[in-house]
Amino acid sequence: MSLLNGELDTILQLSNKMFSIKWRFVLIFLIVAAVAFAAVAYSVIKMSEDYLLSQRVEESLEEASGAAVSVVSTVISDDSDGMYNLVLTRAKNTGGRYLIVNKAGTVIADSQSKLNGQILYLDEVEKVLSNGEVNAYSYHNIDGEWAVYYVNEITDEGSLIGAMVYQSSIQTLINSMNDLTVKIIVISIACCLIVIVLSIITSDYITRPIIKLKKAAIDISTGNFNQRVKVSGRDEIAELAQAFNEMTKRLEDIDITRSEFVSNASHELRTPLSSIKILVESLIYQQDVPKETYDEFLTDINKEIDRLNNIISDLLNIMKLEGEEVLVCKENVSLKDILLDTMNLLKPLADQQRIHITLDADEDVLIECDPLKIHQAVNNLADNAIKYTNTGGLITIRLKRLNDFAVIEVEDTGVGISQEDMQLIFERFYRVDKARSRKTGGTGLGLYIAKKIAIMHGGSLDVVSEEGKGSAFILSIPVKHTKIKSKAEEEASKAKNVVKGKVFKRKSLRIKK
Ligand code: ADP
Repeated sequence: MSLLNGELDTILQLSNKMFSIKWRFVLIFLIVAAVAFAAVAYSVIKMSEDYLLSQRVEESLEEASGAAVSVVSTVISDDSDGMYNLVLTRAKNTGGRYLIVNKAGTVIADSQSKLNGQILYLDEVEKVLSNGEVNAYSYHNIDGEWAVYYVNEITDEGSLIGAMVYQSSIQTLINSMNDLTVKIIVISIACCLIVIVLSIITSDYITRPIIKLKKAAIDISTGNFNQRVKVSGRDEIAELAQAFNEMTKRLEDIDITRSEFVSNASHELRTPLSSIKILVESLIYQQDVPKETYDEFLTDINKEIDRLNNIISDLLNIMKLEGEEVLVCKENVSLKDILLDTMNLLKPLADQQRIHITLDADEDVLIECDPLKIHQAVNNLADNAIKYTNTGGLITIRLKRLNDFAVIEVEDTGVGISQEDMQLIFERFYRVDKARSRKTGGTGLGLYIAKKIAIMHGGSLDVVSEEGKGSAFILSIPVKHTKIKSKAEEEASKAKNVVKGKVFKRKSLRIKK
C-alpha cells in the first residue's frame, strides 16, 4: 500500500512538473514549430513535385504529338512495317514505348511488339478516340513501376484515324521525389528537436524569475518576511519582482512594527502589574499592617489599576483607528463647540493644579469631520498641556481658519520639549520624562493617537517648543473632507460610534482625576 502511495506521489509530482509553466512553454513552442515545419515541408514537396512533373508532361505531350504526326501516312496506307520502324526509331531515341492504335482501339504497332492486335484498354485512349479530346495523359503503376501514358490523336485532314500512345517511365523522378521527401522530413524533425532544446533553454530563462518568486512567496507564507527577489531587466516579470519586493518590504515593516508594538505594550502593561503585585504581596506577607499603610497601599493599587485601564483604553483606541481607517464624517461640525466641551471637561483638573486655561476663538470654524475623533485629539493635546505645565502656568487654546484649513493651537507655558525629543514624541510609547508621565497617568500614546486622527482627516499635527518655556501643538484639519460616508455606511457605523463614545469618555474620566 505504501509502495503504491510512493508511486502515486511520484506520478503526481511528475504530472505537476508536466503542467509547470516551463513545460507549457516548451509544448507551445513545439506545437508552433511542428505546425510551421509541417506546412513548409508539405509546400516544398508539393511544389517541387508539381514543377518537375509538369515540365515532364509538357515535353512528353509534345513528343506524343510529334510522333502522331510522323506516322499519319503509314497509318493511312496501313503500312505495318513502316509504322513499326517509325515507332521503333522513336523508342530508341527517347527510351519510351510507342503504340499506335486504330479508331477501334486495337494496337496496330507496338515498339515492344507485345500488344499487336490487342485492344488497349486505357481511359486516355477512350478520351481521345471516343470523347473527341486531342490528347490525354495519366499516371499508372504497372508491375511496381510508375509511368505516364500520353495519348495523342492521329488525324487525316481533320478526321480521326487512330491514336499514338507514348509510355514514358517516371520511376526515376518518383525515386528522386521520395528521396527529397525523406530528406525534408528528417530536416524538419531535426529542426523540431533543435526547437525543443532552444525552447527548454529559453523557457528556463523566462520561468527562472517566476520560480524564484514562487519560492520567495512560499517562504513568506511561513512568516519569513526578509525575502527579496533579484530584479534584472525591464520587462513585466521584472516589474512583478519589483512589486513583490516592495510588498515584502512593507510586510516586513508591518511585522517589525507589530512585534515592537506587542513588546512595548506588554512592557507597559507589566509595569503597573508588577507594582500591584509588590503592593499586594507586601500587604499579604506583612504582619499587623497599620491601617494608614493599608489605605496608602490600596490607594496606590487603585492608581495602578487606573493606569492599566488607561493603557488598555489607548491600545484599544489605536487598534480601532488602525483597523478602521474610516471616518464617520459629519458636515458643519462646530470646532468651537468641541473646544468648549474639552475646556469644560478639563477645567476642574486645571483648577486643581492652579493652571489657568483659556479659549481664544472669536469666530467659529465649521468643518466636515469625524467630531468624536477630533474631540479625542484635542482632548489629548489639552490633557498633555495640563500634565506638563507646572502650577500657576497658563494654557491657551486657539481656533482660527487659515485658507482651507481649520487650525487649533494648544499652547502652554510648561516644561517644553528638547529638539531631539520633538522628533520622537509622536512615536508610540515614547515619553520624555517617564516618571512625570507615570505620575500623571500618561501612556505614551496620546500624541500618536492625535497625530493619527489628524492624518486620517488629511491634516497634520506639529509642535513648536522651547525647553523650560513651553510648547504649542498645532492641529490643522482641512475644512472639507474628501471622502464622506454614505447614509448606509453611516448607519452601519452607528453601533461603532457608541463604542467610540465610551472610549472617549473613559479617557476624559481619567483626565478628571
Ligand atoms: P503621555 O501619555 O506620556 O503624555 P503622549 O504621547 O501624550 O504620552 O506624549 C508623549 C510625550 O511627549 C510625553 O511623555 C511628554 O514627554 C511629551 N509631551 C507631550 N505633550 C507635552 C507638552 N504639552 N509639554 C511638554 N511635553 C509634552
